[in-house]
Amino acid sequence: MENITASEVAGFGVGAFLLCATIAAPKVDAFISASQRSSLGMCKRCGNLRMIACTKCKGAGLVREGSLFGLSLVDEPKEISTACPNCQGRGHFGCPDCSKSSV
Ligand SMILES: [Zn+2]
Ligand SMILES: [Zn+2]
Repeated sequence: MENITASEVAGFGVGAFLLCATIAAPKVDAFISASQRSSLGMCKRCGNLRMIACTKCKGAGLVREGSLFGLSLVDEPKEISTACPNCQGRGHFGCPDCSKSSV
């Protein structure tokens, strides 16, 4: 019973590999097409994050108001953090393109 040679084992291995490849091929193809779709349909404005970081507060949602006059005459180095008036403290805006497409 030494007819099962290395080449047969290799052939079995190749067959199993081909079987796996055949099974996996549609999934791989679907995966690639999905990635292609996402890359092609990726929002140029927000990169599919569906939100745009506020430039005023840099996404923090808070703006620190130091001395109003730009002078440090006051000894208290306290900074008052207030909600960013540009984004209402959210730190980001909903992407108009994505909200348009999703809704
Ligand atoms: Zn903001
Ligand atoms: Zn977008």
